[in-house]
Amino acid sequence: MAQIQGLAAHAAGAELLPFHYDPGELGVQEVEIAISHCGVCHSDVHLISNDWGISHFPFIPGHEVIGTVAALGAEVRQLERGQRVGLGWQSNSCGVCEWCLRGLENLCPTAEATCVHRNGGYATRVRANARFVVPIPEALESEPAAPLLCGGVTVYSPLRAQGINPSSRVGVVGIGGLGHLAIQFARAFGAEVTAFSTSAEKEHEVHALGARRFVNTRELKAMKEAAGTQDLLLTTVNADQDWAALLQVLRPTGTLCILGVPPSSIAAPAFPLISGIRGIRGSSIGSPCALREMLDVAARHGVKATTESFPMAKANEAIAKVKKNKVRYRAVLAN
Ligand code: NAP
Ligand code: ZN
Repeated sequence: MAQIQGLAAHAAGAELLPFHYDPGELGVQEVEIAISHCGVCHSDVHLISNDWGISHFPFIPGHEVIGTVAALGAEVRQLERGQRVGLGWQSNSCGVCEWCLRGLENLCPTAEATCVHRNGGYATRVRANARFVVPIPEALESEPAAPLLCGGVTVYSPLRAQGINPSSRVGVVGIGGLGHLAIQFARAFGAEVTAFSTSAEKEHEVHALGARRFVNTRELKAMKEAAGTQDLLLTTVNADQDWAALLQVLRPTGTLCILGVPPSSIAAPAFPLISGIRGIRGSSIGSPCALREMLDVAARHGVKATTESFPMAKANEAIAKVKKNKVRYRAVLAN
């Protein structure tokens, strides 16, 4: 097999540099994807900085991949060469544990991530177990669909798990890559959506995405007025937050669902949890089944990422812009 070219992080926080590797023989269950597009998720930024202590350098980031099937392992029957497919955060699981058998492969204790201890999608090609390579519906264009492969399924899964419906009030905290997709999916579920943001200039844009209201989380008065209004708050923020203030925004029995990864532990007061029987939970990406369902919903309900396109070779520029919270709303690298 030919070498795979890409851009790799060689040390924590360093700029990506051109890199190539020999992928070896294709496994019987593996698929090789010729990449056309790859989204720049904030998790790539965390991995490049080694914020989570799990990065293994050098590695090629990227886990919001769309491309075409370039090669198939001998035992892969469900895909065809040349077919348009996507790959997200997860690229393998054991397939035999309780969680894999329940169709919750994202909870498999030996789950493998596309760009942790392996090389991801800021590259010409990438490989994964065929169970994690999903067909892309015809109706979805590749660039605005690429961010659905991680960001999309991450916000879709908790909306589905929490039974969001037209009676629900859903707040989305942090209107970035994940957040702008969360607004659209929550609307597709019929919920009334409120955007909670630190960026006043996003106000008119969140209405166009489907949010009814905008709350500036930096304004004390606005946060006080929002008290007791939301059934579900999805936080997609990668920074520490005023958790007590966010709990106050929940109605009784409401849930604060943590999707973004803040640097510190979450400190929350007990009383709003006890008195309103409120809950705090997390959610992690989604299973391959959820990915397929989410893509189908996106295709039928017109959910798509608002993107800023960069050539693959300019990945460092895209990352710098993500770090400054300047991208509207997802950078996508194109080959
Ligand atoms: P992103 O595009 O950079 O968006 C993050 C948003 O958070 C920003 O647009 C901004 O929204 C807000 N924000 C940034 N800095 C802030 C600060 N200091 N204070 C308050 N708000 C701030 O990132 P993303 O790709 O959506 O990813 C967000 C987080 O989700 C990351 O931590 C990522 O690792 C995590 N993630 C988790 C999963 C999972 O499975 N749980 C999957 C994918 C990603 P406003 O301008 O509106 O305030
Ligand atoms: Zn991601």
